[in-house]
Amino acid sequence: MDNNVFYLLVYSWIAVALLSFPVILRIVAPYGRHSSRKWGAMISNHWGWTIMELPALVVFVCFYVFGKLPFNTVTFIFFLLYTIHYTNRSIVFPFRLRTRGKMMPLAIVFMAMGFNFMNGFINGYYLGWVADNYGISWLEDPRFIMGITMFFAGMFVNISSDNILIHLRKPGETGYVIPKAGLFRWISCPNHFGEIVEWTGYAVMTWSTPGLAFAVWTVANLLPRALHHHRWYQNAFSDYPEKRKALIPYLL
Ligand code: NDP
Repeated sequence: MDNNVFYLLVYSWIAVALLSFPVILRIVAPYGRHSSRKWGAMISNHWGWTIMELPALVVFVCFYVFGKLPFNTVTFIFFLLYTIHYTNRSIVFPFRLRTRGKMMPLAIVFMAMGFNFMNGFINGYYLGWVADNYGISWLEDPRFIMGITMFFAGMFVNISSDNILIHLRKPGETGYVIPKAGLFRWISCPNHFGEIVEWTGYAVMTWSTPGLAFAVWTVANLLPRALHHHRWYQNAFSDYPEKRKALIPYLL
């Protein structure tokens, strides 16, 4: 594919994210605590997570590994970081969830597969076919150092907050309680906050349009989801901490 065509595709994908944002804000995505049978056929929550997230891993890995560019240490680091996140999200995380008997709509799985396919493609294709501009000196560039620091900080917050949530239930339980540990003292969704910081860090360390597209989509998906979770908590618990915000401590 010609590089100009590729970048046209990536900019269009960013435009789709920006145009979709008001819609995603309004429609509560019906999985997890918001799961609903009104959206048609359902699938097990565990398998739903794996099937919808796997394209982000498989497509990305294929386009990188079968790319035309020679081995490059810097793009290999980007490849490893992305792959670690998505191996956890698509293979490890779904089977750690304590959501016995929970289902999610197949429609959500198909939509998320499309989204993950596209993000896996633009980022894998970029690293394997387009990104011939990273010399080893990029590892000393302030953008790389700041980006990778954000990436690891965000990943730590994301995974540790997911862990707190998963362990709120004993095996076999399915109810909800108010989380109180870690960043939950200030915000309802530190796992979403961490994921946004992580992919913003990826965009900064790669200083690339595909990385930016992924970060924009992450915000477009997770900011509304955090607001919907926050509102759900406030409705579900009359003693929900009043000062707790949805996504950004003291602000939002
Ligand atoms: P939640 O944060 O709502 O929940 C995660 C797990 O914890 C689920 O098993 C949930 O159970 C359980 N849980 C949550 N809250 C409680 C509670 N108060 N008491 C007991 N158990 C609880 O999941 P999301 O689907 O919103 O997000 C999961 C991960 O996926 C996050 O790390 C998020 O960042 C990531 N994600 C990334 C997206 C992207 O675009 N990059 C999009 C969506 C998610 P149950 O399922 O029964 O509610």
